[in-house]
Amino acid sequence: MTKNPRKTKYVFSFQEGEGKNKQLLGGKGANLCEMTQIGLNVPPGFVISTEACLTYLDSADQALPAGLMDDVKKHMHALEAATGKGFGDGDNPLLVSVRSGSAISMPGMMDTILNLGLNATTLAGEIKETGDPRFGYDAYRRFIQLFGKIALGVEDELFDEQFNAIKEKVGAKEDIALSADDLQEISDSFLKVVQQEAGRPFPDDPYEQLEVAIKAVFNSWKGKRAIDYRREFHITPAMANGTAVNVVAMVFGNRGNDSATGVGFTRNPADGENSLYGEYLLNAQGEDVVSGVRTPKPIQQMEKEMPDLYRQLEELRDKLEDHYKEVQDFEFTIEKGVLYCLQTRNGKMNATAMVRTSVEMEQESLIDKRQALLRIDPDHLVQMLYPRLDPTARAESIAQGLAASPGAASGHIVFDADRAEQLGRQGQRIILVREETKPEDIHGFFASQGILTSRGGKTSHAAVVARGMGKPCVAGAEGIHVNVQLREAFVGETALKEGDLITIDGTSGKVYLGEVPMVEADFSSELETLLEWADDTARLKVMANADTEEDANRALKYGAMGIGLCRTERMFNATGRLPIVLEMIMADDKAQRQRALDQLLPIQRSDFKALFKVMSPRTVTIRLLDPPIHEFLPSEQHLQEQLEDLHHLHQTTRGMGALSEMSKLLYPEGKTESEIPKRRQADKVFTDSRLVNEAIKKNEAMLKKVRILHEINPMLGHRGVRLGITFPEIYSMQIRAILEAAAECVKEGIDVHPEIMVPQVCTAQEIRRVRGYVDTIKAEVEKEHDLKLDFKFGSMIEVVRACMRADQLAEVADFFSFGTNDLTQAVFSFSREDAENKFLPMYNETGILQDNPFEVLDIKGLGKLMGLAIEWGRGTRKDLTVGICGEHGGHPKSIHFCHRLGLDYVSCSAPRVPIARLAAAHAVLLEANEIL
Ligand code: PEP
Ligand code: MG
Repeated sequence: MTKNPRKTKYVFSFQEGEGKNKQLLGGKGANLCEMTQIGLNVPPGFVISTEACLTYLDSADQALPAGLMDDVKKHMHALEAATGKGFGDGDNPLLVSVRSGSAISMPGMMDTILNLGLNATTLAGEIKETGDPRFGYDAYRRFIQLFGKIALGVEDELFDEQFNAIKEKVGAKEDIALSADDLQEISDSFLKVVQQEAGRPFPDDPYEQLEVAIKAVFNSWKGKRAIDYRREFHITPAMANGTAVNVVAMVFGNRGNDSATGVGFTRNPADGENSLYGEYLLNAQGEDVVSGVRTPKPIQQMEKEMPDLYRQLEELRDKLEDHYKEVQDFEFTIEKGVLYCLQTRNGKMNATAMVRTSVEMEQESLIDKRQALLRIDPDHLVQMLYPRLDPTARAESIAQGLAASPGAASGHIVFDADRAEQLGRQGQRIILVREETKPEDIHGFFASQGILTSRGGKTSHAAVVARGMGKPCVAGAEGIHVNVQLREAFVGETALKEGDLITIDGTSGKVYLGEVPMVEADFSSELETLLEWADDTARLKVMANADTEEDANRALKYGAMGIGLCRTERMFNATGRLPIVLEMIMADDKAQRQRALDQLLPIQRSDFKALFKVMSPRTVTIRLLDPPIHEFLPSEQHLQEQLEDLHHLHQTTRGMGALSEMSKLLYPEGKTESEIPKRRQADKVFTDSRLVNEAIKKNEAMLKKVRILHEINPMLGHRGVRLGITFPEIYSMQIRAILEAAAECVKEGIDVHPEIMVPQVCTAQEIRRVRGYVDTIKAEVEKEHDLKLDFKFGSMIEVVRACMRADQLAEVADFFSFGTNDLTQAVFSFSREDAENKFLPMYNETGILQDNPFEVLDIKGLGKLMGLAIEWGRGTRKDLTVGICGEHGGHPKSIHFCHRLGLDYVSCSAPRVPIARLAAAHAVLLEANEIL
């Protein structure tokens, strides 16, 4: 035995162990101590600490710490005194369970031995005491198997083989049909299995059993299962180190019809309803409930079957909640009319139940608002905000992509946006499947239930647009090979054709064949209440990224306090507008371009007016055009293919001209009245080559334009404010549309707060220039409408140089909005389109980067830069408003950081608004505990 010079206390009775010290006593042990000390009827027992486990595992000779077994014996004597039974006693034997339990729960990962203390003598005593030989042998065979497996390393299957052989021999279908004699035979055969496999007889001495069992439980901490589990769930030694051992007097729920066993929740974990929830079995052991050998009854039935005990159970429930201030998931056993509580822990619930119980427990004064808010993980709310796959549905996924926009949807596969629009209009449910999406696919998004792409990451076009619209998206499912021309895709050997039904789960990134059942979103009144408390607590405002009236309405429903980013290009892409936008792009001179812009002006004005009206009196931040204009044009490849087709058609039409002459042979003019017009019509289509020539010309002009506008790296090219300066008439049209829309609203008595935001700014001169346009147009609009306009002018900060020149930018800008999508790309020099499904997963797996920086704001690098920009910006303009509108604006950890940095608002896609509202409140509540 190793020495124990410090005389460390390793063993704690349930009366003396400190209920909060999970590190030392393990979660289960600490809880048993706490339950005992608050007066619950827990079977007597004691805990051997995790420290004893570590000392044992560290010892060279695998010896228990010196004096440990002496202490254990003392505590066993106390158990004997408390139960009036004797350990090893032939008349009234004490049996114990030996259970593992570390600081962090690792369900099923470590070992438990029940009924320890049984041998030939105590078995006889137990049978005498209970008058029930079947019960005695059943307990004995269970003990031999568990002890044999865990403490002596005998394979479980060897016992099962024996068990099944005897069951078969006696013709018993279920365990319950086995008689005492059968169970005795099983026990005897089990003892032989142990002798044969372990090469030693089964230990009879109860203290020897106990010592071996304690060592076995300690050893299970180093078992492969447990190590794998800790690695998988990132359980570090600081969180849990070693397992404690709990030795507890056995109580039996299978001692007759005044005995029972069951599990309960203090509230319903499925919907949060405030009523006892659970199941029980009369005359049964705990493992019968868990293993499903017998079907348990709903707990409410106990009210009839055991009314007094049901009342006691209700009392237990109140005591548990009063003490733990949390919904509890507990196990109980009734032995001969006495109720014991064996275990309790915080109940795991779905988000709906968490929210409801938070609100109701606050109203019952069980917890305060702070606790009500903090007990819910903001990310957990996702479950309530989007439809999701029914957790009970059994479906095998066929492909895995990135979880790019949460929620689930089923629909028929369509491979291009036009067709999606066409079929969507007919009322079909569509999943748009593309290699990747482009701005010109936007009408396909509107028509679809969900989007699936085989390329691109979580900030790809598909992902960002889908999130903005609140539609599910699985992006970068690289196992899917899409062939748009043939309207099919392959996943390995499986072909997916247009019209096939699939289901995508944007919360997990999985793709399924067919329709998988779903559970609808549940934005309950309790969630509204909870989020109102969050708003009262938070300092950060939560705005939404919303581009259309529909988005804005959804954003309001989710509690957005304004629009922090309206991407105007989405409006350009809408059906009916694209031809005008194309006209604007194809224009050869300014006058031609202006004609197209004159058509766009009223359209944009009414877009903005609609947004202002919906959001009044909240602010609406409108970003001037950002993407390179060639994004509105078809790709070079597409145009080339079209051109080839047109040339073929041209050839064909010429041939048809000749054919038309010959067709006279078939339909000599005047043959029948009805055939003449038919023939003429066919001739016209096929022989009128003028139509085809026109199409070819148009196509060639567009191809030429596409080539002129081609850029090697468009994301760093002619876009954003650069576009606004080289084509001032485009920005001027948008600025006029915003200000005229605002003026019209003011006249109608609508309280509007527009903000004009300039993207991709990197020098102060750029925004000075745009500010110049704004000032001129403002003066004109104010004069035309005879009123004064109140609005703000600001800059996006999404370029590194903009951060470095923040002091200068703040001279012109009233506000900054961090565009952390582009800024992350710029700071890392990672292309946001490629990084996420190329090297980032490997970087994350191998720990080179802890998180995906496009998802979780990079506090260490980008965060520093943001800090400097804010400091310098506010150095120039004290009241500079600062926000964030990149995807990070909806991510809880990033929101905490934004709070600490002193931002005024975060802006995120509408369905993430509730998550952000709760996270903003958490940021305040947790501030005191955080270290910057
Ligand atoms: C950004 O860059 O963070 C941003 C919001 O702009 P976009 O995603 O439209 O480039
Ligand atoms: Mg950007």
